[in-house]
Amino acid sequence: MATAGTASIDLFVDRPRQPGSAFPLNRKTMQTSAATVHERPAFLGSTKQLLIGGQWVPAASGEAFDTFNPADGTVIGRLARGGPVDIDRAVAAARAAFEGPWSRWKPIERQRLLLRINDLLLAHAEELAVLETMDMGAPLSRTRSTVQWISQTILHFASCTGAATTTTSSHSLPGEVMALTHKTPLGVVGGIIPWNGPLGGQWWILGPTLATGCTCVLKPAEDASLSVLRFAEIMAQAGVPDGVMNIVTGYGSEAGSALAAHPGVDKISFTGSTETGRKIVAASAGNLKRLQLELGGKSPDIVFADADLDIAVPGAAMGVFSNSGQICYSGTRLFVQRRVQEEFVERLRHFSAGLKVGNGLQPDVDLGPLISARQLDRVMGYVKIGSEEGAVLAAGGARLGNELANGYFVEPTVFSDVANTMAIAREEIFGPVISVIPFDTVDEVLKMANDSEFGLAGGVWTRDLSTAHRVSQGIRSGTVWVNCYGMVDPTVGFGGCKASGYGWKGSTEHVESFLQRKAVYINLN
Ligand code: NDP
Repeated sequence: MATAGTASIDLFVDRPRQPGSAFPLNRKTMQTSAATVHERPAFLGSTKQLLIGGQWVPAASGEAFDTFNPADGTVIGRLARGGPVDIDRAVAAARAAFEGPWSRWKPIERQRLLLRINDLLLAHAEELAVLETMDMGAPLSRTRSTVQWISQTILHFASCTGAATTTTSSHSLPGEVMALTHKTPLGVVGGIIPWNGPLGGQWWILGPTLATGCTCVLKPAEDASLSVLRFAEIMAQAGVPDGVMNIVTGYGSEAGSALAAHPGVDKISFTGSTETGRKIVAASAGNLKRLQLELGGKSPDIVFADADLDIAVPGAAMGVFSNSGQICYSGTRLFVQRRVQEEFVERLRHFSAGLKVGNGLQPDVDLGPLISARQLDRVMGYVKIGSEEGAVLAAGGARLGNELANGYFVEPTVFSDVANTMAIAREEIFGPVISVIPFDTVDEVLKMANDSEFGLAGGVWTRDLSTAHRVSQGIRSGTVWVNCYGMVDPTVGFGGCKASGYGWKGSTEHVESFLQRKAVYINLN
């Protein structure tokens, strides 16, 4: 990697560069030099194997499949096609590691391990960011920020390694009885993650696994596994014991479903679509696994007429366009108070037109491609449906051609005059598509905001404190942002309700969910 300039830092979770914005709006703050040259990461090339018990091994079937760069459709690697037999082997390795010397590691040893991983992460930051960009398309500004966010997340989990405690409780039992409560690591955790940010997404599993002394088997998405595999090499270098982290690449219907159903797995942590989430709930019933599910969303983002539109327009826009709309919590139902709707949509159109769409390795690119041809078809299908349903296409709506024709690029798209009943307002599109829905009153907008099967996130833009409070309380979701959108801090956490899933990610609650409680009553008489 030859970098002529200094890379700027834009937090993965879209912490605002400017108040309320999820996006580096001031191009002067972007220090990425136009002369930045990206060499093909050395990691690309050979067929990537499965990581089982500390060994890189081929799939039992011997099969592998291609993985593509969504910016130009080229094959950038081959991944072993793991299946049920490989999941069996990986779960056995994770169980053996869980019951082996790893179980006797002291909290400070696990903490030191996490800190070593953090050091190596930062030493390999640029390589990992480039790999993630090539693998799933997000602009380098975002994948570089991902690395910074991971570092913050690792430090959070490093501070939680003492969570497995034994405490004595006061009680009202007769006689001399001592009551102890032990919290011990839960066991083997299965992690199934999507393609929209695997480098960071895996840390919602790795962090609590390593903090508590659990072990894990990860099944990354077939469309984006490379950064996870490279990071596993780095983790081994940091001293993660064999079998503590295992990776089985492959298809969801093969490796994923086998992991979800496996009787040797104690918990599944899943991020992905609601439809697959439902299958995982069913598959987990066999051994009554614990589940943590972060599923789809159709989050309401509500702009009141008194909002500072200089902040609300870019903030709400990037609350959808970040990562080309491929974020579970995107504020895709953009409710705008009717008396500013016209001005807001005009400003939104202007803002969208100023965004640069292109290969994420190029400097100053704001939006990269969608992940795959399948996702492109899905998004373009919804654009067509929106027009057919009678929404007004106010901006974008087209696939990009010319030098971008081989990739999966879509213009930032804005529909106005959308009704909350339309398919584009009800279904998760997972692309850069905003549906602007007008409203008049707080009661009306809250009713529409909550009229959705999802409950992941929401936003409100207003200068009025009581409106902000009332609306943030009234939106039924796991997270609400006020005068900003998309911040997630690992010490605070993130989660959903309704069809967006359950189980909190981040904070000490997340760590607790990787622990098992046991009460011991000792009769001292
Ligand atoms: P999925 O939910 O199908 O995929 C997420 C992960 O689950 C992947 O690793 C996938 O493997 C795996 N998987 C798929 N089927 C099963 C199964 N039966 N059992 C266990 N694991 C399984 O999402 P898609 O990638 O298919 O995307 C489809 C839509 O889902 C998107 O358009 C978007 O709307 C939504 N989505 C939402 C995400 C979110 O963060 N909320 C993330 C990703 C998608 P594989 O990659 O092989 O399919």
